[in-house]
Amino acid sequence: MKYEVVIGCEVHVQLLTKTKAFCSCENRFGGIPNTRVCPVCLGLPGALPVVNQKMIEDAVLAGLALNCKVASVTGFDRKNYMYPDLPKGYQISQYDMPVCTGGKLDIETGDGKKSIRIIRLHMEEDAGKNLHLEDGSGLSYVDFNRCGTPLLEIVSEPDMRSPLEAVSYVQGIREIMKYLGISDCNMEEGSLRCDANINLWIYEDDKRYETPISEVKNMNSFKAMRNALKYEIKRQLAEWGEKRLTLTDTGKVTRGYNDRTGETVVQREKEEEADYRYFPEPDLKPVVITKDLEAEMGKRVGELPAAKRKRFVSQYGLKKGAASVLAASKALSDYFEAAAKGYREPVKIASWIITEVGGYLNTEGLTIEEFSLPPENITKLMEIVDSGIISSKIAKKVFARMAGSGESPDTIVKKLKLNQITDRDKLEGFVAEVMKENPQSVADFRKGKDHAIKFLMGRIMKLTKGRANPQVAAAILREKLGDG
Ligand SMILES: [Zn+2]
Repeated sequence: MKYEVVIGCEVHVQLLTKTKAFCSCENRFGGIPNTRVCPVCLGLPGALPVVNQKMIEDAVLAGLALNCKVASVTGFDRKNYMYPDLPKGYQISQYDMPVCTGGKLDIETGDGKKSIRIIRLHMEEDAGKNLHLEDGSGLSYVDFNRCGTPLLEIVSEPDMRSPLEAVSYVQGIREIMKYLGISDCNMEEGSLRCDANINLWIYEDDKRYETPISEVKNMNSFKAMRNALKYEIKRQLAEWGEKRLTLTDTGKVTRGYNDRTGETVVQREKEEEADYRYFPEPDLKPVVITKDLEAEMGKRVGELPAAKRKRFVSQYGLKKGAASVLAASKALSDYFEAAAKGYREPVKIASWIITEVGGYLNTEGLTIEEFSLPPENITKLMEIVDSGIISSKIAKKVFARMAGSGESPDTIVKKLKLNQITDRDKLEGFVAEVMKENPQSVADFRKGKDHAIKFLMGRIMKLTKGRANPQVAAAILREKLGDG
């Protein structure tokens, strides 16, 4: 059977504004339940919302970074629905006057670059959170702290043709939002959430049949997203084989992904826009977005990850893979550039940062933002290696110590007496000692077994705790063995 997978994404991004979208409550994850609330975000009678200016700026900034057109006037609407975590009975959102429209994001696919069209970007407020106890009591609590948290919703066209493309798209959005510094995009804490609309176009008897669209929710990691979408493809294929249902038969169905079972289950059936009875928010006037604000935000967009990746390849001669890793986070790319500044081999610095710094952060569970070692210390360490004072193997030891203590590499080398032994007389002594202790290997080498020299070099390095200059030591060893 010939079929195509069709996926569109709705990405919700929580903004990092100091205060909430329409009141002055603190906007922060967590907190003692129901302490970051006020009459406005609780929707008490008579409370009046006020638009957070920073939310408008962030929305314009995000829209420009996603190549959108910015509206000159944008307005808010009420989206009405009843749910325990929504005390107002409606959510302030945007309906027909979204702040941005018509953008695009390029993703990398197996066949090269592909543009995913963005229909719109709008602002809305988040709802609270239901906490269902799992102690068998059947009790649920509700925490309104999150009510009124500003969100951007970014809606794509159904341009993605595989779970992998959908994941790349959301990763791209995440990268950009983090670059702009407007969201931390933490999927586990829910500051980046993605709903995916997925169905299949099945080609049979020269006709195209479209299966019912599933809106899949609750995917709180990229892995979960990939698995949920793969599951949906299988499920929709099976359903088609059994019931031959099409989109016109059932409409759109909301399904939740269960990470434990790896399956999606029906949450709500047939939900239409009309059910929300959108109407203009009577308490908020439309907001005018001046050309000045748009220009100011345009300047603030700066260099985005895709452009940076390209530049890292052309300016520093990095391989595409290394450029991708470094450019994925603004903080990491800044760290690299600061370390590479004034050093003649940026490729070497790049690989050191990716493997050593990356490895260290991984084991310590730190982010690059939390890493306190100044990038100049990495440059210094490289220079010490280049000048032959220590070997690159010892450099790893020095790095481990300086990453933890913050000391400069020279201090550590001095303190731990790690400097490389290049002195001929000293090295001759070590060579003689190793040759004396390993007569068999010496004899083997003289009989023509060249690999014996590797073993002897290994003994010399061990004896000097890795401090012997390998080139000088090897030359002496060959000399003494009568090979040079
Ligand atoms: Zn409030």
